[in-house]
Amino acid sequence: MHDVAIVGGGVGGVLSGSLLAHAGLDVILLEALDYLGGCSGTFAHREGVFNAGATTLVGLDDRLPVGRIARVLGIKLPVRPVDPAIRVHLPQTTVPLLRNRDAFLEALEHSFPHIDHALLWSSVFRTADALWPALSSLPVFPPNNPGESLRSLVWAMRLLSGTGLSVLGRASNHIHSVTTDPVYQQFLDHLLLITTQATSRDVTFLPAALGLSYATLDNHVALGGMSAALDALAKPIPRILRRTRVRRILPKNDRYILQTSRGEIEARKVVLNRDIWSLGELVDAEPVRLAAQKAMHRVPRRWGAVTLYFMVQLPPDRTPDLHHQIHHEKNPWTGSHSLFLSLSDPSDERLSPEGWRSVTVSTHTEPALWENLEPALYAEQKERVRTFMLDQICAHLPEFRHAAKGGILVGTPRTFRRFTGRTEGSVGGVPMTQGQFPFGFASCRTPLKGLYQVGDTVFPGQGWPGVATGVLNLMKVLEKDSVLPKDARKLLQGVF
Ligand SMILES: Cc1cc2nc3c(=O)[nH]c(=O)nc-3n(C[C@H](O)[C@H](O)[C@H](O)COP(=O)(O)OP(=O)(O)OC[C@H]3O[C@@H](n4cnc5c(N)ncnc54)[C@H](O)[C@@H]3O)c2cc1C
Repeated sequence: MHDVAIVGGGVGGVLSGSLLAHAGLDVILLEALDYLGGCSGTFAHREGVFNAGATTLVGLDDRLPVGRIARVLGIKLPVRPVDPAIRVHLPQTTVPLLRNRDAFLEALEHSFPHIDHALLWSSVFRTADALWPALSSLPVFPPNNPGESLRSLVWAMRLLSGTGLSVLGRASNHIHSVTTDPVYQQFLDHLLLITTQATSRDVTFLPAALGLSYATLDNHVALGGMSAALDALAKPIPRILRRTRVRRILPKNDRYILQTSRGEIEARKVVLNRDIWSLGELVDAEPVRLAAQKAMHRVPRRWGAVTLYFMVQLPPDRTPDLHHQIHHEKNPWTGSHSLFLSLSDPSDERLSPEGWRSVTVSTHTEPALWENLEPALYAEQKERVRTFMLDQICAHLPEFRHAAKGGILVGTPRTFRRFTGRTEGSVGGVPMTQGQFPFGFASCRTPLKGLYQVGDTVFPGQGWPGVATGVLNLMKVLEKDSVLPKDARKLLQGVF
């Protein structure tokens, strides 16, 4: 019998599994696909290798959650720094999001000379600089008893004494006090959409500051794809079973029986790396089914993704930036007016063989738009959205027009549902809207003793930094629940 079984090898599953193994527990990780990563996975298709969703890796600095975990584990990731983090293509101008803050503000000044950028961005940076390091020392959240509530309150008061209470207001209030320029507003909203899954009208300034400061943190590209970074991070886990789907989890006395596509496995504790809405699908217990039903009603499943995957041959000096956000007009299929294009690094031997580059393009969509379509209609809709997205790309990056080889693969919410098991193909976590963040977020605790959850729908949410923060939170909960061995604090120095 294993101490802990991790169900799912996404970012949350891998980081939790490695920390628990590092703390001395016997961990087994079960992953349905033949690669790790889920939405941050890397897959091979025909002549190419592609990142399935995530392409940007941020926060490897020791003070930030992913970097902190890598340091505790003593793991060096196969990465290369990226600067500018993103080049944003607006209708009349492009803005490089540079790491150096002065250079970043200069670039903004160049594109929007009439706006007092320092006024807005000084409060963004001040808030983010206070919040990023504070995330690692966040007490168990959401609190479960008066002691935990008190510790959270003290943490929040300490943070707010540095930032001021105005960070609890809507981000749009802060932006409107500086400018009402609609293009600038759109520029900020689309940065927020890819980082907080909501726009300035709905998101509190506190998480918005994290999202907006994203580009000025240390951004990296994972060489060999995002799965390669996860393979490196998964090294401490003694047993990883790929191509092993967990079908049912049965609580039995003080342990769990996991029925999988490759037989039964027993473990004392289980960490589920699936979205919170699917909790009841696997676990055979009434309180869990009720919790999942509650989540279905209370926590919005907002966004799905449409993705394109293809290979291009570009001269090395063309399109040197790796990540591009391209703004465009409205259309019936995508939920935002921008798409995100990532090119593989030219030095990446796996993703960029012989001068070819792997491309992943993604944009938001409503999952419901892709449900219940007849096969012919589904194929037609995919073809239309593919043509639309490609036209937008070529309007800003004309060198892509004749560059694609081996066809263009299109992913939809149905694709994500099929491959990663995400409910309704909903990805990107829970939008950090005022109503939702932070108290509406799910806890890593479940109604069953010994059953925990982790991933981008659990507090505090999405992306590598959000999921890693959730993993640090889980470790604190596991220590409280006496799941960790006695000397774990010493072994996990830097986590607590
Ligand atoms: C298009 C797109 C672009 C993104 N871009 C970025 C980005 O640039 N940077 C960034 O930081 N974040 C980005 N994100 C968000 C980021 O990818 C996710 O927040 C993160 O990867 C989610 O991790 P997770 O731990 O929730 O696991 P998931 O990605 O949900 O993975 C869950 C894993 O569990 C496995 N699994 C599910 N059910 C079972 C079962 N029954 N048995 C066994 N295994 C199972 C799945 O196969 C999967 O591998 C992007 C997301 C998308 C969709």
